[in-house]
Amino acid sequence: LSVSVLVVACPCALGLATPTAILVGTSLGAEQGILIKGGNILEILQRTTVIAFDKTGTLTQGNLQLTDTVPVADITGIKLLTLAASVEQGTRHPLAQGLISSAQGLELLAVENIETEAGQGVLGWYQGVRLLVGNQQWLMEQGVMGEPQWQTEVDQLLDQGKTVIFVARNQQLQGFLALQDTLRPEAKATIAQLKQWGITPILLTGDHPAIAQAIATEVGIGEFQAQMTPRAKVAKIKAMQGSTSAPVVAMVGDGINDAPALAQASVGVSLSGAPAVAMETADVVLMRSQLSDVLKALALSRSTVTKIKQNLLWALGYNLVAVPLAAGAFLPSFAIVLTPAIAAAMMASSSIVVVLNALSLRYQFAPGQNWE
Ligand code: ADP
Ligand code: MG
Repeated sequence: LSVSVLVVACPCALGLATPTAILVGTSLGAEQGILIKGGNILEILQRTTVIAFDKTGTLTQGNLQLTDTVPVADITGIKLLTLAASVEQGTRHPLAQGLISSAQGLELLAVENIETEAGQGVLGWYQGVRLLVGNQQWLMEQGVMGEPQWQTEVDQLLDQGKTVIFVARNQQLQGFLALQDTLRPEAKATIAQLKQWGITPILLTGDHPAIAQAIATEVGIGEFQAQMTPRAKVAKIKAMQGSTSAPVVAMVGDGINDAPALAQASVGVSLSGAPAVAMETADVVLMRSQLSDVLKALALSRSTVTKIKQNLLWALGYNLVAVPLAAGAFLPSFAIVLTPAIAAAMMASSSIVVVLNALSLRYQFAPGQNWE
């Protein structure tokens, strides 16, 4: 009897319950382009109640097209674009890429000492002249503008959902450029599904409030904050995490500007194509760069944790029944006794059940399967 107890009580199933499910969950993710950096991430992800989205490159495609070039100083449109693109050579922002590709064929200036002011703009020097390219608020802070008579024109561009970038030489405004981004085709459906699951989506962007409002309305996000520097995004996430409702906040972002916010969030999710620093900081990387993979990652985390719970329950239940049985609890009244060989078979099959249960995740998340 004591040999049977020793054999039947070998806690294999208990030990296998969690790691097998996590192994299957993370490898399923990896196979389908969702890199999850650790089992604990799956556990936190399934408790997520708020997801903060970045705008440029995350909700939108980050593929910006130049639509308007408006000089306000004594300068041609071509020259204005040349100035802007020359300064942008030093950065990797989607806005920079948009401006540079629009300036193809133009001879760019060799701007020096280019510095990026994350979430605000870029500055550089050309022949002793200080060039600034960035948003209106930042240029104002740099002392560039007084009372602008062209503000109505800027407002019109903003109303059309365009991002407006300002260009200044020394303290003199040269003009502004408008760029249009397009929404990711899957953005709207992704947000709708999140809301259906009871997860609150919010939008945190460095862009103008008018653009933030337009995008938020279009995709169906109720809460947004605009003109946020990377530091403000971190502060906002921290504040939410510290509030009385203490939500588990995930952040989905793409750009270099988002790395601090990705680090602060309970789970940072980065789309591939992001700079190395963002992918490095993120806990989940979506290799297919599909926003809807956020949903898949969430579903996978939920199912994996459910499997872990089922496995633990099974392993405990098995021991609860098998150990007294092996100890001879039913011997006096029913003459039932386990031989060590049967005990070994039971022990092995309980482990197999746990492994099979974990593997059944594969059917649920097979490619082409409706995992929702
Ligand atoms: P988002 O939060 O929408 O991804 P960012 O934080 O990257 O936006 O940028 C916020 C704003 O800062 C932009 O809308 C733009 O006005 C300005 N900005 C950021 N980077 C640049 C740049 N390289 N050139 C010009 N403007 C920039
Ligand atoms: Mg961005």
